[in-house]
Amino acid sequence: MSEEKVEHVKCLIIGSGPAGYTAAIYAARAEMQPVMYQGLQPGGQLTITTDVENYPGYPEGIQGPEMMEDFKKQAERFGTDVRYGLATAVDFKDGKHEVTIDGNKKITADTVIISTGASAKWLGLESEQRLNGFGVSACAVCDGFFYKGQDVAIVGAGDTAAEEATYLSKLCNKVYMLVRRDEMRASKVMQNRVMNAKNIEILWNTETVEILGEQSVEGVKVVNNQTQEEKTLKVTGFFVAIGHKPNTDIFKDFLDMDQTGYLKVQSGNTKTNVKGVFACGDAADKIYRQAVTAAGTGCMAALDAERYLTEEGLH
Ligand code: NDP
Repeated sequence: MSEEKVEHVKCLIIGSGPAGYTAAIYAARAEMQPVMYQGLQPGGQLTITTDVENYPGYPEGIQGPEMMEDFKKQAERFGTDVRYGLATAVDFKDGKHEVTIDGNKKITADTVIISTGASAKWLGLESEQRLNGFGVSACAVCDGFFYKGQDVAIVGAGDTAAEEATYLSKLCNKVYMLVRRDEMRASKVMQNRVMNAKNIEILWNTETVEILGEQSVEGVKVVNNQTQEEKTLKVTGFFVAIGHKPNTDIFKDFLDMDQTGYLKVQSGNTKTNVKGVFACGDAADKIYRQAVTAAGTGCMAALDAERYLTEEGLH
C-alpha cells in the first residue's frame, strides 16, 4: 500500500479572523506562500456583528461580514491559499509542526501561526440567539455606540462586565447590570467604578429569563433567584459579558496557556514556547480583544515567522 505524501508548507495559518488574514497578507507579501485553514467560522467573530465603526480606514463604518470579505480578498491577492477546513489536532513534539485538518489530512509546516480566536460565552437562550446582532451583543466597546442615550442591560459580574458597564454608562441613559449572585467577581477597583456611576443600577441575585422583541430587543424579563419575583426591564440593548473561551483546546498538550486557555506569548512578540509556532489575535489576548489589535498582532506574527525562517536558513 503506497503511503500518501504529507503536504509541507512554509507557513501555515490556523484561523481566519483579522489576526489570521493580516498575518496572511504580510506572509504572502514576504513570499512565504502561506496556507490558511479558515476554521469553523470563516471570517471569525466579526462575521456575526453588523456595523463596525471603530476599525480605522472605514470612515462610514462597514458591515462585519463585508469587512472580512475585504480582508480575505487582500490576502488572496498576494497569493494566500485560503482553504476550508478545521484544525482538529496538532503535534508539536520534538520540533515537529504537524497539524491535522478535519480529522484526517495531515500537513507539516516550517512555521505555524495560530489565530484561532476566542468565542464569547452565551447564556444559551433561544431569544439571545435570535436577536444576536439586533440588540444582543457580546461586545460593548464594539456596539455600545448604537445605544447612545438609550436604556440597556448587561449580564455578568467579572472584570469584563464591570468594565463594559462603565463604558456603557458613559454613552447610555441607564445601564442595568444583572448579577446572578449577591456579590461580584470583578476586582475591587472595577466594582468601585460601577458603584460610582450614577446611571448603573445593579440587580443582585438576578437572572435572565427571556429577551423580548421580534425584530430587535424591546426589553428583558428577569427573575430574582431568591424571591422568584419576575420583572420586565424596558431596554433596547442587551449585552452579554460572562466571559470568553479562547479556541485553543487542541494546543493544550504542547503550548503554554493560562488557566482559561489563552496562549502565552513572550512579552513584546508573538513567540510561543515552541520554536516556529506563533500566536496572535484573541487566542492570546484576554484584555483588548479588538479587531484592530488582533490585526496588529497578526502582522507581528508574520514578521516573527519570517525572521525565524531566515534565522533557520529556511527562507
Ligand atoms: P470571568 O470569568 O472573570 O467572569 C464571568 C462573570 O460572568 C462572572 O461574574 C460569572 O458569575 C458571570 N457568569 C458566568 N456565567 C453566567 C451566566 N450563565 N449567567 C449570569 N452570569 C454568568 O470573565 P471576564 O470576561 O470578566 O474576565 C476574564 C479574565 O480577564 C479575568 O481574569 C479578568 O480579570 C480579566 N480581565 C481583565 C481586565 C482588566 O484588567 N482591565 C478587563 C477584562 C477582563 P459568577 O461570579 O457568579 O461565577
